[in-house]
Amino acid sequence: MTDRHILRKPNRDILDSVYDVLVIGAGPVGLACAIEARKHGLTSIAIDKGSLVNSIVGYPANMEFFSTPELIEIGGYPFPVQGYKPTREAAIEYYRGVAQREELDVRLYERVQAVQGERGRFIVRTDKGEHDARTIVVSTGFFDQPNLLGVPGESLAKVTHYYREPYPYVRQKVAVIGAKNSAAKAALDCYRHGAEVTLLVRSPKLSDSVKYWIRPDLENRIKEGSIRAYFETVVREIRATSIVVKSPRGTQEIENDWVLAMTGYRPDFSFLESLGLTFANDGFRTPVFDETSFETARSGMYIAGTVCGGLQTNRWFIENGRFHAQQIAKHIAGERTERIRFDKIHWKTEE
Ligand code: NAP
Repeated sequence: MTDRHILRKPNRDILDSVYDVLVIGAGPVGLACAIEARKHGLTSIAIDKGSLVNSIVGYPANMEFFSTPELIEIGGYPFPVQGYKPTREAAIEYYRGVAQREELDVRLYERVQAVQGERGRFIVRTDKGEHDARTIVVSTGFFDQPNLLGVPGESLAKVTHYYREPYPYVRQKVAVIGAKNSAAKAALDCYRHGAEVTLLVRSPKLSDSVKYWIRPDLENRIKEGSIRAYFETVVREIRATSIVVKSPRGTQEIENDWVLAMTGYRPDFSFLESLGLTFANDGFRTPVFDETSFETARSGMYIAGTVCGGLQTNRWFIENGRFHAQQIAKHIAGERTERIRFDKIHWKTEE
């Protein structure tokens, strides 16, 4: 019997308060990990410092997923939607319903502060208490830490890295920073709801990753002058009523009321480091883990979902990250796992 088989105790006394699997992060992939663990006869608990599916709750109101619903389903539960693609609201309801149907043990607004111990006997300390677990899965995503501009004025109240809805910006001068999907959508949305939008892009053109149904809309608004766009332009300073930018044409101060810095996000590396995870020296700070079992260099600690990509936040999504859950549960349960060819998984998000 291997060490891993000893961990599998599906029929043990329910008074045993040691969880087989403790999942840090109750997003779609974290929930999938808790469900798959249970399917393999393991007890599980998921802990999140925020709400259930906290990242999706933080998305813009009425946001439509790029994925079709069957690609973000978890636990084998169908996700019927009225339209073609799910909205933020439908997805939150879907994951809430799945967690309820599965009677998952989820602890919300509980922040993990430290994980001590080793495989078979971890102690997870949180701001609300302690939990004992035999294994840990880290599925903390990447949405909590925005990529900062690092310029004076970034902490002013007029600056946000999280776009919610256009209504605060009606008849306001709004600078949108970035050249990818969040920037494109925020710029169009604000323009269509009466804001005066200036798009600030540090590269010479919009990113090729802007979706094909968004890109021409934005390009045409720029061409007709409805949205003012500055390329090869970096922000130097944000002031109370203006924004200072630099481009090959020189330095310019633009009148401004609000700044939507749509500069992307990154995993919380200091938290990952505090868990004892190590990172590849590949320029992306990719966490070190086994690509079949998803076990990290810290024995008994696994990693799942977007966080696996380090700074490459476009490597893993819900679509492919949800498959990590099965690999991890099988490994913890002591079943043989094959390496998944993720490039072979059929997902059809429209490129
Ligand atoms: P992102 O894809 O990481 O793009 C960040 C953008 O900000 C890039 O254009 C980047 O420029 C720019 N940037 C980063 N740091 C900067 C700085 N210091 N100064 C100026 N520009 C800077 O982030 P995102 O657009 O928020 O997308 C995040 C994820 O959400 C993606 O997976 C995306 O597909 C998804 N998304 C989904 C929806 C939806 O409706 N379903 C909508 C939006 C986003 P460079 O290109 O030069 O690095």
